[in-house]
Amino acid sequence: MKYMTLKDEYNLKVSSHITDYIAPLNVYVPLKTYHLKVKSNEYVYKEQELSPNVYSPVSGVVIGVEKCLNALGREEACLIIKNDGKEQYQKPKNLKSKLTNYQKEEVINLSSKFNYENIIQVLKDLQKNTILIINAIEDELYVANNVMILERKTDLILETLNALSEIFNINNIILALKDSDSASVAKIFSNSARYPQIKIKLIPNYYGLGDDLNLLNYLYPKNNNQVLFLHLNDLIKIYNLLKMQKLTTKKYLTITGDLIAKPQVINIKIGSKVKEVIKKQKIKSKNYIVIVNGLMQNKQLNLENLIVTEDLDSIFIMSPRKAGKEIDCLNCGLCHKFCPRHLNPQQLNKLKKVDINLKKQCNNCNLCTYLCPAKINLTKWKEG
Ligand code: SF4
Ligand code: SF4
Repeated sequence: MKYMTLKDEYNLKVSSHITDYIAPLNVYVPLKTYHLKVKSNEYVYKEQELSPNVYSPVSGVVIGVEKCLNALGREEACLIIKNDGKEQYQKPKNLKSKLTNYQKEEVINLSSKFNYENIIQVLKDLQKNTILIINAIEDELYVANNVMILERKTDLILETLNALSEIFNINNIILALKDSDSASVAKIFSNSARYPQIKIKLIPNYYGLGDDLNLLNYLYPKNNNQVLFLHLNDLIKIYNLLKMQKLTTKKYLTITGDLIAKPQVINIKIGSKVKEVIKKQKIKSKNYIVIVNGLMQNKQLNLENLIVTEDLDSIFIMSPRKAGKEIDCLNCGLCHKFCPRHLNPQQLNKLKKVDINLKKQCNNCNLCTYLCPAKINLTKWKEG
């Protein structure tokens, strides 16, 4: 695989200040089914199950159902809870004094309490000689959530990794950090001396290494051991489970773009409406477009009903750019040469039907379209 560093196109760097938006008037909770466990006007506690495997991020009163938009641009029915701001929840009885005072099964059971599927799977598979990689690489330009987590929650991250290492008896934990994030790297290095089982690997600023498989190929091209991945948000969830047996109901969201006066990271309640927090930002023009989850993905959405879900990481408020006009392929080969999955999107675009397994190989990094000098949309083949 060939690696490349993306060049910053704009000056959209976020400030070091994080703003809280953790007490919205209402929260909107996507329902996986219409099987509700609560009724209209009912009081619900924070963490109460509203429908199978769906939990309330606040305490308050159920006031209705509304269609909302998620980060993928799909409409979902959401239960609206009027937030009473009290964060009332049923306190757990058997809290432990130390994060390390748990047995393996207890941690897996706690993760099952809130249906953290990915975490449960990783914890079940952890064995003594597993390499556990914490992928803290942020691929998207200008998105600073991971950097902020590393800087602000350094001890939380290290304590949680130490607890996982002791509880699951694993000694090979790799924390993969971008070497260009000098402030967070320095902080992690200075605080990690107490934990020799946590090894820090500095990764060059190459696009694509935020993807687990690409990172694995970069770090261990000939690896035969079992390797598992967790991300920083997973560690925050595990910490909250071990410390307070609590559901994680907040996340970091980067708000930036050429029309945002003060790009920053917001500590936001999951279930908030994005437009409510955007209203608090100074926007330089009324004529803007909204791009979610990074400029590389270039996914434009309508702000009106967009809600904060776990997979929403960034909002870009951008001036409508004149899309470059598509011309015929120049056969430069860039799309093929730099595809991290060795696909040839130019050829795939010509096919009427593409095998589902090939579609699964693509990791949606969008590097092919980004690089194409002929401005061809090189992921069209995935739509058919
Ligand atoms: S979006 Fe898919 S085809 Fe394009 S470069 Fe990335 S992995 Fe390759
Ligand atoms: S990058 Fe664009 S112009 Fe170059 S080969 Fe691929 S499709 Fe053609």
